[in-house]
Amino acid sequence: RAGLPIAAPCDGPIDVSFEFFPPKTDKMQESLWTCIRRLAPLRPKFVSVTYGAGGTTRERTHETVVDIRRKTDLEPAAHLTCVGATREEVDAVARHYWEAGIRHIVALRGDAPEGAGGYGPHPGGYAYAADLVAGLKKVADFEVSVAAYPETHPEAQSPDADVENLKRKVDAGATRAISQYFFNPEDFLRFRDRVRAAGITVPLVPGILPVTNFATVCKFSAACGAGIPPWMHGLFDGLDEDPETRKLIAATLAIETCRALAAEGVGEFHFYTLNRADLTYAICHVLGVRARAAAAATPAAV
Ligand code: FAD
Repeated sequence: RAGLPIAAPCDGPIDVSFEFFPPKTDKMQESLWTCIRRLAPLRPKFVSVTYGAGGTTRERTHETVVDIRRKTDLEPAAHLTCVGATREEVDAVARHYWEAGIRHIVALRGDAPEGAGGYGPHPGGYAYAADLVAGLKKVADFEVSVAAYPETHPEAQSPDADVENLKRKVDAGATRAISQYFFNPEDFLRFRDRVRAAGITVPLVPGILPVTNFATVCKFSAACGAGIPPWMHGLFDGLDEDPETRKLIAATLAIETCRALAAEGVGEFHFYTLNRADLTYAICHVLGVRARAAAAATPAAV
């Protein structure tokens, strides 16, 4: 990675999308909208809103997605999972989205709620994301994105079985795969090779998580199929009480990752914003993604 040029060298413009989570309180609602207002001028391809574990945010996700549709010219996508609901219930949620003008769903299996002892399909529910994709396509002609795992989903029988599962999701109608976050660009690139070798041709978009709270990411990562490379511990060592420095490091790391991927021809990035705009905005700026008024500007030096 050391020899990379300073500016993002990807041919052509870079597309981005932003992921938010539905706010729980008025204050969180305010931060979400501050974040949306800051990022909207970057003209993302779409913005998506997550669905709480176990379907716990069904109403809040719906409200947020529909609010974005009504109040902005952004293209909102609703995350939807199979957890804790029958097929009919999930189909009804999807139909409501369609009626509200939402045309893009990020279709996921989801995870069991904490303490439930692992995932099990709901009786009468969609068992896996591939089943959900097929079900959604019967409800309406949604654009459907799905999840992909550069380091393999933790419950997969094998890395190959996980890629076969991605193929099933695409064969069922998904037209984009968004990756779980990762910290070694090589993991994503090797995964892309395996995905292409399996005959999957839809865009494979890297999910970028700018890490501001390293301790939380460590706790979360093992369970979700993302490894923390040993060098990262050293990088954040001694900074538990120093959020300012952590933020600078987080920006540098994510920028390096994105530039390494752009150098390998990756032209689309999905950002896990955690409803905060600053890091994502800075990374987009380095990638040459600019507010519309300044769209002709060239990528800046880091
Ligand atoms: P699937 O594609 O169904 O795969 C799940 C596992 O089952 C894999 O190990 C797969 O290999 C295996 N599998 C699939 N089919 C079969 C089969 N027939 N037989 C045996 N094994 C099989 N979670 C939420 O709760 N809400 C969200 O909003 C959310 N958003 C996300 C967004 C992105 C971009 C990503 C990457 C993840 C997101 N998640 C979300 C997390 C996701 O729900 C979990 O990672 C979940 O454990 C797997 O979901 P999936 O859609 O990848 O499942």
